[in-house]
Amino acid sequence: MRVGVFGGSFDPPHNGHHYLGVCFHEQLMLDQILVIPAGQPPHKTNHIRIPDRDRLRLCEMVFPESYFTISQIELHRAGKSYTIDTLTELKKNHPDDVFFLLVGADMLLYFDHWYRWRDILENCTLCAIARDGEHDAEELRRYADEKLIGEKVRIFSVPPLPVSSTRIRQKIAAGENIDNLMPAIAADYIRQKGLYREE
Ligand code: ATP
Repeated sequence: MRVGVFGGSFDPPHNGHHYLGVCFHEQLMLDQILVIPAGQPPHKTNHIRIPDRDRLRLCEMVFPESYFTISQIELHRAGKSYTIDTLTELKKNHPDDVFFLLVGADMLLYFDHWYRWRDILENCTLCAIARDGEHDAEELRRYADEKLIGEKVRIFSVPPLPVSSTRIRQKIAAGENIDNLMPAIAADYIRQKGLYREE
């Protein structure tokens, strides 16, 4: 099977995440995409604001297609979760699958700082998509060829969908509507549970 590995804070998940998943599903002809919410980091910086069970429920709502599987692999791991550990575990359990690590442009441009990034590239193809129109495909290609291992990196350019979790959290805290940024069922869930009311 051709499997996409799509990690993120998903705090909360939104239409931009879904769009990225759908684009990669089509472009790479993936059989399955594992949506992998990151575990709570051990330190307070960048902490995740809602309980894991709510994040998982929201991911199910935002990624409804049957080719998406919400994976708890990083939530079950004690301590800091590294992508290389996740990939190693996936490869061990599914040795015949081929893995594609799916990231937005902002993530790609820091990839040479990721823990054991060379080992990550040994185990998968890194696939990046331009985001917000901030980084064009040429810039990403240059970075991949100069700083990484060019042939292990694929770049896709698609029309941007400018939405971020940060913006959504700010809007909720300001009492603004978030209905066009995620499916209505997910926005209703956030409202009913009173999530993200305080920034
Ligand atoms: P935050 O605003 O809290 O930083 P985020 O919206 O960037 O969150 P993450 O969970 O950090 O969301 O991102 C997970 C992955 O989704 C990353 O690879 C990121 O580049 C990508 N991504 C996030 N938003 C978009 C978008 N609007 N279009 C395409 N890719 C996106």
